Amino acid sequence: MTKSQSWGIIGGGMLGATLALRLAQQGERVTLFEGAPHLGGLASAWKLGDIVWDRHYHVTLLSDTSLRSLLAELGLESEMQWVQTKTGFYTSGKLYSMSNSIEFLRFPPLGLVDKFRLALTILYASRINDWRSLERIKVTDWLTRLSGRRTTQKIWIPLLRAKLGQNYERTSAAFIWATIARMYAARRSGLKKEMFGYVPGGYARILDSLSQALNEAGVLVNVDHVAKRVVSSAKRGTEITFTNGQLRSFDQVVLTVAAPAVADLCPQLTLEEQQKARSVEYQGILCASLLLRKPLAGFYVTNITDTWVPFTAVIEMSALVDPAHFNGNALVYLPKYVPGNDPLFSKSDEELRSNFVSALARMYPHFSPSDILSFQVSRVRQVFAIPTLGYSEKIFPVNTSQPGIHVVNSAQILNGTLNVNETIQLVEKALPELLATKVRSAAFEATSV
Ligand SMILES: Cc1cc2nc3c(=O)[nH]c(=O)nc-3n(C[C@H](O)[C@H](O)[C@H](O)COP(=O)(O)OP(=O)(O)OC[C@H]3O[C@@H](n4cnc5c(N)ncnc54)[C@H](O)[C@@H]3O)c2cc1C
Repeated sequence: MTKSQSWGIIGGGMLGATLALRLAQQGERVTLFEGAPHLGGLASAWKLGDIVWDRHYHVTLLSDTSLRSLLAELGLESEMQWVQTKTGFYTSGKLYSMSNSIEFLRFPPLGLVDKFRLALTILYASRINDWRSLERIKVTDWLTRLSGRRTTQKIWIPLLRAKLGQNYERTSAAFIWATIARMYAARRSGLKKEMFGYVPGGYARILDSLSQALNEAGVLVNVDHVAKRVVSSAKRGTEITFTNGQLRSFDQVVLTVAAPAVADLCPQLTLEEQQKARSVEYQGILCASLLLRKPLAGFYVTNITDTWVPFTAVIEMSALVDPAHFNGNALVYLPKYVPGNDPLFSKSDEELRSNFVSALARMYPHFSPSDILSFQVSRVRQVFAIPTLGYSEKIFPVNTSQPGIHVVNSAQILNGTLNVNETIQLVEKALPELLATKVRSAAFEATSV
């Protein structure tokens, strides 16, 4: 058995925190550094009026087995609430329920043949196992071939544009395949129903329990620590310099931050590595949370194809989560996915509010702006890596050219969408590789004495 090593982990989102826990459980000495004043990153919670809930909407699927195992370990899985939710579709100025096959057959914007081809596309995509060939095909070409031109123009492209902006033109078919595969995973794994789950208390509660587990496992957690530079040296191990002037040294350092930030932080990486890290393009988000006196329409997700609507979708969290958690009110999210350099990032909450609220009033005639108890916007410039054509070539390996510098981040999700289950699977996959590096460096030390 090799002796334990010291590990510094940069980024205290679900990925960094889970990785810290797993390494500590293997007997390693781990310190976790998070730039924000609290753990959680994209999954963190905030206060909205008189409630505390996730900054961005989160659900768990029955098929999210890695996440559910972690929740079981934290003692929270048995408390999960599982709910069958309804889905809405807003198209040509009208709101439709699309929650079952009969409603799908009645859906007026598409003819019967179009619907048949659309259903076949989804069924076909849900059965594909090998995504490799899909990452070379443009998503629009693939969908046009399967669903036909009309459905692609009327349904698919507006949905793709909503999530990816104009980048949808350069996105591969693997993106839509991964999205469909996630939604159908529950059925594929033999679980008949599509149910969405949540932990009472949301991610605030999950992160509290995770922090406690980290503490019990001996992980030292440092929040308010923004890493500025990571340098590996034969004599001093790998050093992290922080913006607050501190310098800390470890045997191994793992970065869980976005790919371009890896290039910024690690000047010793080779030119090829730097270019690879910088070539990953991200989609960002402006995500408004609204606490309302009344629900809107009772759909967990309402997909939107009308381009005049200034947000991507409507997420009614209170259609899933018992409104008692929101003091009887309704919690609604209005996400708008945009590239990280979009001018919308410079708009104030007030400007976005007037734009978003007038659209809501047009979509839901019974909605009144006086129903709003609270309105807050979360802004993140780098949320998920856009799976452009041939994306797998951009994937950064866990072990870099520099001894003691490693990368595990969500840009390494190869055949999936961004979600916490995938995030935890990245940790499960990387752990043996990281521990193997440790064995190699220990062997090197032993032979070089
Ligand atoms: C709108 C939205 C909806 C979502 N819905 C769902 C859902 O329904 N279900 C689901 O499972 N998942 C969902 N997700 C995805 C989920 O939030 C992510 O999979 C997960 O939170 C990613 O964790 P991470 O640690 O990889 O990244 P992050 O959460 O981004 O963590 C990275 C951390 O690194 C820190 N950091 C960055 N730079 C530095 C630095 N220099 N020094 C120190 N720290 C630094 C950041 O502050 C951050 O805390 C959603 C995400 C969004 C945005």
